Amino acid sequence: MISMDEFIEFVRGGPLGPIKKWGTKWSLWPVHLVTACCGAELAHAFACGYDGERIGALNYGIARQTNLIIVEGAITRKMAKVLRITWEQMPDPKFVIVMGACGLQGGIFWNGYHMVKPSDVVPVDFFIPGCPPTPEALLRGIRQLQFKIETGEAKTSATFPEVPLEAGRKPRVLPKSPKKISKAPAVIVNAPKEVDWEFGQKLVEEIKAKVEAKSVTITGKNRIAVKVESDYIPRAAMRLREMGFDHVKNVNVIDVPNEDKFIVEYHFSSYSVKELMPVIVNVFADIPRENPRVKSLASMFPSADYMEREMHDFFGVIFEGNPWMGRKFLLAPDAPEFPLRKDFKLEEEVYVR
Ligand code: SF4
Repeated sequence: MISMDEFIEFVRGGPLGPIKKWGTKWSLWPVHLVTACCGAELAHAFACGYDGERIGALNYGIARQTNLIIVEGAITRKMAKVLRITWEQMPDPKFVIVMGACGLQGGIFWNGYHMVKPSDVVPVDFFIPGCPPTPEALLRGIRQLQFKIETGEAKTSATFPEVPLEAGRKPRVLPKSPKKISKAPAVIVNAPKEVDWEFGQKLVEEIKAKVEAKSVTITGKNRIAVKVESDYIPRAAMRLREMGFDHVKNVNVIDVPNEDKFIVEYHFSSYSVKELMPVIVNVFADIPRENPRVKSLASMFPSADYMEREMHDFFGVIFEGNPWMGRKFLLAPDAPEFPLRKDFKLEEEVYVR
């Protein structure tokens, strides 16, 4: 009676070994792990033009029945967990190909707070460079993997000769994370605009009569901006609801560090009053950057809840009364705090020496 380990070793290296390798080589089942635009190139590689199936690889949807992950582009902190779980679920022998500049070193998001290198999460067999890599490049990567399965030898499929720099030219270095904030970035929000909109003029008059606003302006066809004191936002929301604006479409925060303030915006619209349906009223207020707080509208307008949590994650604004304050909602637990603040800086990473 032989042990399981001996049996596995026999299958791998015994007389059946070459047959097993041959079978694995022509039975690659890449799991779909589309995270970004590289996925379109993968689709192209397996569509009728290039027909990736003819080289023995066919995309499959269930991790437990696949043996190859093709990481198609960017992996974020949240997606890293999915990548690892998918990899853990796959039976051995399993392989990983990473395609695209984003997967290699971050690509166009190279200094994004949320980027993770797939090679830090799972063992990678082959990288396919490009943004995006062509379908031919992907198929060449799969062929190289097959060669590795067969021979145990991993080779690069394309080599580029090193070209010496012209005398006196400095090597190219990627830009570093921004270190400085512009002293006076132009922040122009809700600028008034002349438009031919008679109903809008009437609405502006009605809002002026009902809402204690610092200003009420038309900023475009079907767009009205109402500036209020931050404490007054809930009352303004109530008045708008009485007028027929029945939901919050969007909650937004703008960081204006040189004026030491955030601008908080709520966009109101209507599903129930026909004339108001195309209209968006933007109620906005300035709040200090130090200890930024504003009253939540979540109990009055449930659609505001989710977006308030999102703004809390990204900017650290406290929406008083929203029960989700103080915890991370959208970002992964280990994500840095308030990454959309303009003074947020990443720790520098060196990509080019
Ligand atoms: S490498 Fe280019 S094509 Fe691929 S995911 Fe990144 S940005 Fe998109």
